[in-house]
Amino acid sequence: MKPEKLPHVVIVGAGFGGLETAQKLAHAPVQITLIDRHNYHLFQPLLYQIAIAGLVPSQIAYPLRTIFRRQKNLTFQMSEVTSIDFNARYIRTNGSVIAYDYLVLAIGGQTNFFGVTGAEENGFQLKSIESATGTRNHLLRMLEQASREVDVEKRRALLTFVVVGAGPTGVETAGALAELITHVMTKDYPAMDLKDVRVILLEATGNVMATYPPELRKATMRLLESKNVEILLNTRLTDYNGQRITLADGEQIDTYTLIWTAGVRSAELTDRLGVQQAASKRVRVEPTLQLPQRPEVFIIGDAAYLEDGKGQPLPMLATVAQQEAKVAAQNLQKILNGETPESFQYKDPGLLATIGRNAAVARIWGLSFSGFIAWVIWVVLHIYRLIGFRNRLVVLINWAWDYLFYDNQVRLITRE
Ligand SMILES: Cc1cc2nc3c(=O)[nH]c(=O)nc-3n(C[C@H](O)[C@H](O)[C@H](O)COP(=O)(O)OP(=O)(O)OC[C@H]3O[C@@H](n4cnc5c(N)ncnc54)[C@H](O)[C@@H]3O)c2cc1C
Repeated sequence: MKPEKLPHVVIVGAGFGGLETAQKLAHAPVQITLIDRHNYHLFQPLLYQIAIAGLVPSQIAYPLRTIFRRQKNLTFQMSEVTSIDFNARYIRTNGSVIAYDYLVLAIGGQTNFFGVTGAEENGFQLKSIESATGTRNHLLRMLEQASREVDVEKRRALLTFVVVGAGPTGVETAGALAELITHVMTKDYPAMDLKDVRVILLEATGNVMATYPPELRKATMRLLESKNVEILLNTRLTDYNGQRITLADGEQIDTYTLIWTAGVRSAELTDRLGVQQAASKRVRVEPTLQLPQRPEVFIIGDAAYLEDGKGQPLPMLATVAQQEAKVAAQNLQKILNGETPESFQYKDPGLLATIGRNAAVARIWGLSFSGFIAWVIWVVLHIYRLIGFRNRLVVLINWAWDYLFYDNQVRLITRE
């Protein structure tokens, strides 16, 4: 007797959403093909640690073939998906055409430069291993160049570091960078005058951490200022030519380093799908996470646009992507069983951001924490969420070492 053919589920993207969907379907009567352009799952919340020489890429990325070694109903393929034919139900990659019965798109997002002149070409970003490693190399190179620069103005520009966007990533990056220089680099460069160093955090709105409650915004300002980060609120960048930033009021600041953390939009593939897009180019989905008129297609995570009960778009967060993944996997199985899919409801697990090596802000169980306690919560949660026991152990040892000895260990300038 011929074995029954199982429905073929194609999952595109093995980030937070795709990984969780694939794992939740491990025992479902389906055959899964998981596709990603990379052969690893990346823990993006710690990318800034690569940039500030705190961790190496292999500590925050994990090979997908290892993760799914034991999942018998899944095949992994490393490819770039270039187009999708929703009518004929196939995807095209850079090398093959793959037919699907069900499709889960979890392709994430990419940096949004909002058209600011020169920011993308001349600035740095934290979105991938390559961009974070490139940022680390550049930061360390600036310190090397500054150490041999005799021109005072040029040295100041080399030691001026501008971070754009005071959301959690910008705050974490600016705080950690300020500490790297004050506590670690002053030991490597004893002649460095800290008066020449500026870490500037630029924010177009009137607040740091706009989505956080007022008491945590205040705590964030206080903690950043204690680390000598200059915070410029209501300040809009209009141009960056690689050597100088220009602000909306015409002021200019000489700098060779601009790290852009001010915006995210959905991954570029969403522009080529011929579907309805909303804010940040995310694809509008039904409350069940299905694509309108295409019940066999689910879109989740940063690529999907769905509003909460108050009409606000769900944030582009790993927690949203993971919760959506669970519901998408459940709904797919409901459809297979002839049941009606359920609507997605986001359960906010709280807010958490770190500001250097011993301070953080957190909002958990309706309570606000700041300072050392919040930092301990941050460390525990991030270690727990990393994939792989070895990674958890190595990162824990690394952070303990940095904490005790003020010594970020990855201070290597490598060729790009
Ligand atoms: C620096 C930084 C810090 C962050 N900090 C936090 C935080 O502290 N807490 C939090 O909750 N969230 C944080 N986020 C946001 C969080 O990482 C995202 O919301 C989350 O990754 C979204 O999950 P996703 O599955 O939608 O996409 P992703 O995790 O981005 O995964 C998308 C995957 O799709 C793949 N892909 C994309 N296009 C294609 C294609 N055409 N073909 C093949 N593969 C493709 C990509 O390679 C990637 O692996 C942070 C993000 C960044 C960049």
